[in-house]
Amino acid sequence: MPRSRNLSFSRIAAVLACLGLAAWAVAEEYQSGKVWPKPNVVTPGESGGPPSDAIVLFGGKDMSAWVGGEKWLVKDGVATVHGGGVTSKQSFGDCQLHVEWASPKEVKGEGQGRGNSGIYLQNRYEVQILDSYGNETYYDGQAGAIYKQWPPLVNACRKPGEWQTYEILFEGPRFDKNGKLAKPAYVTVLHNGVLIQNHAELQGSTAWDKAPEYEAHPPKQPISIQHHGNPVRFRNLWIREL
Ligand code: MG
Repeated sequence: MPRSRNLSFSRIAAVLACLGLAAWAVAEEYQSGKVWPKPNVVTPGESGGPPSDAIVLFGGKDMSAWVGGEKWLVKDGVATVHGGGVTSKQSFGDCQLHVEWASPKEVKGEGQGRGNSGIYLQNRYEVQILDSYGNETYYDGQAGAIYKQWPPLVNACRKPGEWQTYEILFEGPRFDKNGKLAKPAYVTVLHNGVLIQNHAELQGSTAWDKAPEYEAHPPKQPISIQHHGNPVRFRNLWIREL
């Protein structure tokens, strides 16, 4: 390439660089104009422990946050399903819920009969708990399913007896003043840190014997944990209201 052409290229490049610099010099920082409140400082918990702004639903001592909790067996910081389901005394709307659970180490039963329990958000929307480690059942009924509505995106189950986590992000449904659905509920779930429900839209309450259907309810409702006859264990239950 002739020298003169090289020169003209470098001149053009220099001019462009200057123009860029000038544009940067006169540019103004974009600001949305929205006035945001300062985010609160939250101290994260250690290894599954509750962050500083969480409501502890079971911290290892007793099940006093739950109606029916006195029936469950509490030992060594662990609560085992026994004698019936439990329902939180407090009601919740949109939330982040942390659950640690373990299916029985000794494998008994199969399909829906192995390590079955469940987290009922707002008392009616079940995130399934099941020992789905090498245990076949209908997909929208395995661990992490929104029962009979959405199978989990993947099966992230640990072995029977091992501790597992659910991080559940829940947006409750909204109903208008006539009780008509204005906005459905959405659930996101991470199972052992793996995304298994991604903002899944709920079609209504989850039931074994009927199709999902919404029925108007107050924006805050208790959480319940299912008794399905299997000694599923729980620890570190906490919730953050959103
Ligand atoms: Mg269940």
